[in-house]
Amino acid sequence: MDAALDDKRGLAGEMQVAPGGHDDYGERAAGSSVGMTEFYDTHAHLDFPDFAQEVPQLVARAAAAGITRIISIGTDLESSARAVASAEAHPAVFAVVGWHPNEAVSAPKDFRAELRALAKHPKVVGIGETGLDYYRLPSANGGSAEDDALVKARQAEVFQQQLEVAAEVGLNCVIHTRGDCFDETLRLMSPFAGRVRGVFHCFVGTPEQMHRVMAINSFVSFTGITTFKNAQTVRDTLAATPTGRFMLETDAPFLAPVPYRGKRCEPAHVREIAAAVAHVRGCSLEQLSAATCAAAREFFPKLV
Ligand SMILES: [Zn+2]
Repeated sequence: MDAALDDKRGLAGEMQVAPGGHDDYGERAAGSSVGMTEFYDTHAHLDFPDFAQEVPQLVARAAAAGITRIISIGTDLESSARAVASAEAHPAVFAVVGWHPNEAVSAPKDFRAELRALAKHPKVVGIGETGLDYYRLPSANGGSAEDDALVKARQAEVFQQQLEVAAEVGLNCVIHTRGDCFDETLRLMSPFAGRVRGVFHCFVGTPEQMHRVMAINSFVSFTGITTFKNAQTVRDTLAATPTGRFMLETDAPFLAPVPYRGKRCEPAHVREIAAAVAHVRGCSLEQLSAATCAAAREFFPKLV
């Protein structure tokens, strides 16, 4: 998982404020909002080594913070099986099964049968995370343009197999899209229009890109980045997103919100994300809870 870990840390790194800069946006928002309104963490990686042996405590701390559902997201078949095992062990945990684009080169040529079998589990609510990642290609590490083309082609195949399985089993997809691949992501999804929708997770796109996601009847979800002082574009996009069409997530162990920024993130931190999101949208926590939980249940029909 090192590539994925570095990748997400790279994103957090881009968003770092200058040394000495005070990242006060989320602290102010969080300070005004402690309560027990219910929220869901729709994207966490409970199976990552960061959380080894600690999942019961994570789930308990989340429950104490009012986080009543956690969706653990697979990044390959083994990780997906671990997500399912967590879902079996904890009533509050559900699973999404799939293969992450950063791991696409290690995917079997055709893993649809294995994925289909996992997807039939009653607590598997979606397929993914899948999609494209052009941010970290071989050329970033001295590779050739041909190497990049091979990786891009492999990512597209792995993405397509997951869209096919999602269509067959009637589930939606959790979409990762990073680097200059937004148009290509939409192009690969277009044959599945009307059958498979996506939640563009950890959404950091512009309002215009958000509207394009809405136009294909898909969703977006927002992480702790919304609390970062220098993430005004993300807050502008969040403010413009239609109510009922977005969800909240941590992407734990990555992207801890202020005031935990730079530390390990965990599902309980949805609390701080919700406070910042309610502040940006000028709504109450109760309104945000109702809208985001309903959005998650609509998008992930097996989430009960
Ligand atoms: Zn993820």
